[in-house]
Amino acid sequence: MSGDSERRGDRTDESRRGDRSGESRYGGRSDESTDERAAGGAPRTKRRGFLKGSAAALGGGALIGGRARGAPGGASFDAGGADGTGVGGTSTARGRNGMVSTVHPLSTEIGADVLEAGGNAVDAAVAVQFALNVVQPHSSGIGGGGFMLVYAAEEDELYAIDNREEAPLGADPEMFLGDDGEPVPFRGRHTNGKAVGVPGTLRCCDVALKRFGTMELGELIDPSIDLADGCRRVAVDEPLAEAIADNVEAGELGETAREVFAPGGDPLEAGDPLVQPDLADTFRLIRSEGIEPFYRGEIAADIAETVQNAEGYRDEGGSMTVDDLARYNVEVTIPERATYDGAAGELTVRTMSLPSSGGLTIGQILGLLEPFDLADEGRRSVETYHAMIEAFRLAFADRGEYLGDDAFVDVPWQGYLDGEYLDERRSLVDPDETAETPVEAGDPWAYQPGEPYRVGAAGSPGDDGRNVHNRGQTTHFTVADGEGNLVSWTTTIEQLFGSGIMVPGRGFMLNNELTDFDAEPGGPNEVQPGKRPLSSTSPTVVFRDGEPYLTVGSPGGPTIITTVSQVLLGVAEFGMSLDAAVAEPRLYADAESDVLYEETLPEGIRRALEERGHGLSEESSIGSVQALEVTDDGYFGVGDYRRDSAVEGL
Ligand code: GLU
Repeated sequence: MSGDSERRGDRTDESRRGDRSGESRYGGRSDESTDERAAGGAPRTKRRGFLKGSAAALGGGALIGGRARGAPGGASFDAGGADGTGVGGTSTARGRNGMVSTVHPLSTEIGADVLEAGGNAVDAAVAVQFALNVVQPHSSGIGGGGFMLVYAAEEDELYAIDNREEAPLGADPEMFLGDDGEPVPFRGRHTNGKAVGVPGTLRCCDVALKRFGTMELGELIDPSIDLADGCRRVAVDEPLAEAIADNVEAGELGETAREVFAPGGDPLEAGDPLVQPDLADTFRLIRSEGIEPFYRGEIAADIAETVQNAEGYRDEGGSMTVDDLARYNVEVTIPERATYDGAAGELTVRTMSLPSSGGLTIGQILGLLEPFDLADEGRRSVETYHAMIEAFRLAFADRGEYLGDDAFVDVPWQGYLDGEYLDERRSLVDPDETAETPVEAGDPWAYQPGEPYRVGAAGSPGDDGRNVHNRGQTTHFTVADGEGNLVSWTTTIEQLFGSGIMVPGRGFMLNNELTDFDAEPGGPNEVQPGKRPLSSTSPTVVFRDGEPYLTVGSPGGPTIITTVSQVLLGVAEFGMSLDAAVAEPRLYADAESDVLYEETLPEGIRRALEERGHGLSEESSIGSVQALEVTDDGYFGVGDYRRDSAVEGL
């Protein structure tokens, strides 16, 4: 296991201090080849040969006009069949020339249409993003942001586009404190203008297309104009109907949004037509004028005015100005790198780096667990679940203490994944008993080479009124094309319907992403002007022998990290098929929470965990994964059964 070694270009081999040969409490041995693998990186390789093949030769997935569609998910735990239903009711499809896996049939179809018309994975992903804005307006859209990974096959290089929302220059560290100086509870602070970050999604679409795409933004937005203005019928689906009902009942939808989603006060129900003429007009404007109106023109002016006038708990709106919008840019960065050696061979896991905590935290979790050789214990053994929970707790303790936007805070990213440091942390895992909570952070600075300049003291994130129950639930999707290009994109407006604020006359929701900052000042993730809040989103691309192997990602706030880790462990440690790994019952734990578990977790495991001192709490579902595997025969696409999934192979 190792961390990113190339991001800042100043790693020394000594910094890896790689002798991890100590016996683990579980009897496993640390991996001695860590340094070698870390130093080696992914060798450049030739492109895959299968991609030029014909869809007619496919097995698995229902073939429809040369396109193979996954069946809608169910919830049984049978083995998967060849009819588009995978293990546990996951949706699956196979394709030699492309793959699209999203949460909605229309966004998947639009992405597949783009691929079929000759567009590449990035073109298709941009079209998918616009479609998702229409069909799942509560989950993502141009009023939000996210993190996009692009594997560019021709260059054999993986890029990350950080399109995270940003705090306006008028933001201040105390803006989420009430008059009593205490953090305003999460429910009180996410539906007002102060919660809204400068949106990044549209600029990401533009930059991604200019850098990697082959088609024009205007062409790719067209199908979504038809969806938004009702030319092509969109029916409200169950997840949207539920989100509307919940948000209306909780009073968390602003007036403009209520007019669209609960006209006359009646929440739209599943099956009702969803028509969004204002959104269609906004998309038309973008089609004819590009992204300028959004970041510098009339839409920017409307966004700023809406945010400033959206009153909240202090009877004042947010500070966002047109200058904040004009200043916004995405950043093209290099994802974190971690390795894992298990049943699936030596894998290199590339996941989003700061300001998402996903990469470093997943890196720690995998690094803590790898030497336990959990495959010997079995995927559904109590030893495996216990070890995972303890690793989650340790990793989340460090996350809360050290991680924040590294443009603003100095983060011990080398010490964080240092082999000796992980050995030290791993030695805290008692195989028979859970750790006392809250689990304390370690000291990765002690393993950091050189004498880093430290910015401030890392304070406690404190009780800011936010807990795992306040996690966002947005969306992740993945696309592959016949040239081997891959996209893994987690895109969000934070909570369902974001801040609840829709820009009047423009038809899109504004995010509440700034609530991902700690409400209490003093820590690495405090609010600062121009800073990006710490995220958990973890779009992931895994490489095997230097070649792309998997993409994985999920919504779910902090549970994203544990969800992606569990899917990766299923494949990497236990040699499971991707659909089986996605279907496995999930857990979540952080430094202080109860263990959240899905009801599919076997009863005997629950009892055994309780005997080890774990407090347990049932959740209806955790995360919703869209993933794909690059196999010798083509792509194998997977969509989670936990929400709707639509998977289509070409
Ligand atoms: N706000 C969340 C994060 O960045 C993402 C929303 C989600 O949970 O899907 O961690």
